[in-house]
Amino acid sequence: MKRDLLDILACPLCKGDLTIEIFEENDLEIITGKLFCKVCNECYPIEDGIPNMLPPDLRD
Ligand SMILES: [Zn+2]
Repeated sequence: MKRDLLDILACPLCKGDLTIEIFEENDLEIITGKLFCKVCNECYPIEDGIPNMLPPDLRD
C-alpha cells in the first residue's frame, strides 16, 4: 500500500486514526507491516502490500 493511504485509512471499528509499523517497504509502497488502533487495542496486518481492514471477528 502507498504510504499516503494511511491518511485515508481508519479503524473499521471506531473510525479512529491508525498508527503504522512497517516491517518491509520499497521505494513505492509498504509491503508488510501492521496498522494499530490504540483506541480498540487492535492490529490490522498489511500483507503483500494489501492492508487487511476486516474487523478481527470477520477474518478467515
Ligand atoms: Zn479502533
